[in-house]
Amino acid sequence: ENVMRENAMPNSTVTRTYVLPQLPMTDAKENVVVGADRIVGFSCSKEASLSTNVARKLLLGNSMPVVEKMENVGCNKLQEVEELGESRILVFVRLRPMAKKEKEVGSRCCVKIVNGRDLYLTEFANENDYLRLKRLRGRHFSFDASFPDTTNQQEVYATTTAEVVEAVLQGRNGSVFCYGATGAGKTYTMLGTVESPGVMVLAIKDLFTKIRQRSCDGNHTVHLSYIEVYNETVRDLLSPGRPLVLRQDKQGIVAAGITQCRAYSTDEVMALLQRGNQNRTTEPTRVNETSSRSHAILQVTVEYRAKDSGMNIVNRVGKLSLIDLAGSERALATDQRTLRSLEGANINRSLLALSSCINALLEGKKHIPYRNSKLTQLLKDSLGGACNTVMIANISPSDLSFGETQNTLHWADRAKEIRTKVAETN
Ligand code: ADP
Ligand code: MG
Repeated sequence: ENVMRENAMPNSTVTRTYVLPQLPMTDAKENVVVGADRIVGFSCSKEASLSTNVARKLLLGNSMPVVEKMENVGCNKLQEVEELGESRILVFVRLRPMAKKEKEVGSRCCVKIVNGRDLYLTEFANENDYLRLKRLRGRHFSFDASFPDTTNQQEVYATTTAEVVEAVLQGRNGSVFCYGATGAGKTYTMLGTVESPGVMVLAIKDLFTKIRQRSCDGNHTVHLSYIEVYNETVRDLLSPGRPLVLRQDKQGIVAAGITQCRAYSTDEVMALLQRGNQNRTTEPTRVNETSSRSHAILQVTVEYRAKDSGMNIVNRVGKLSLIDLAGSERALATDQRTLRSLEGANINRSLLALSSCINALLEGKKHIPYRNSKLTQLLKDSLGGACNTVMIANISPSDLSFGETQNTLHWADRAKEIRTKVAETN
């Protein structure tokens, strides 16, 4: 079946929605030409641009309206990626609900999530905007999980981070990143609100529960630190003051004089993090008044001490890093002033450095360019190799954010590809 679904809308005129999946051009053509009212074209692969082309031609030729509604399609040609064992990056996408502001200006939803994994991105254009119609594009992506806007914080935590927390208790380091444009939902996902606490809080809550269950096995100590990297300067969010200096010591790179809080309860942690977050550097920009150009890193160190049957001391340490990255949008697109460009350059430098480190690690390179940014120096012992790494890409559903969403998804898709590459070479 080449035409995936035909949809009769409940109103007087019958509207047919055609979805062009990964099809050879000829098939797609034959099946779509007949009386289609709306067409969705998206790409799954090399062939996909062909089907997009067909859709485009048809749209122009028959002056059909651009698709407004995505159909649930049963296209499930997922490239199942093998488990990678020691080195794997899990990539997730979270769609946030449409904001009131976005609704008010009449924006349309351009993202559709199907089967909890597949994600379809549609570009809209005005019917008589031929120039844009000509370049109109739709895309298909698939991730380890794609969370629709109805997904709650607990579900996101359970799917993305619970396993990482378990591994930290076993002494294995791990990190979870939120990546995406300003306003896409990174801070909501990481920190959340008092009513709906996010991954940072849920991770610590879970950690405490697990530790309580194992309290008779030995002694666990939990320490928290919460820092920000802003404009390549490291600040302590738990006790703001002078910038922290990074030093290399026996344990690796440490921020000298950093506040290490002993944590005992979840409420305490939420209060601590909220206070810390208020210390984050936020700057007014033309796009978003509270646009954050800083990276926030929560590091949770769990130390385990016990005596084994031979009365030898067992000591293991696991570190969990939870990172709310700065907005991934291009700084120059929002503000041309020099300071902003400088900040933009640094943000890009950190994100770029992060990407190149992940790349290098997974390609098995000897030299990993951690030194290129403060962010990567801080994450040196929590990234790749024997660590669990998780990416959560946050996106807005609004067609007004189409460009940013596309960029974010491409970044996420690349992170996923790196993983695939490793699978093939192993
Ligand atoms: P970012 O940190 O990426 O700039 P925020 O997390 O601050 O974005 O989110 C922008 C706005 O959208 C906030 O008002 C936030 O409360 C809201 N929001 C984001 N994600 C969700 C979600 N999954 N459910 C409900 N509201 C959300
Ligand atoms: Mg934020």
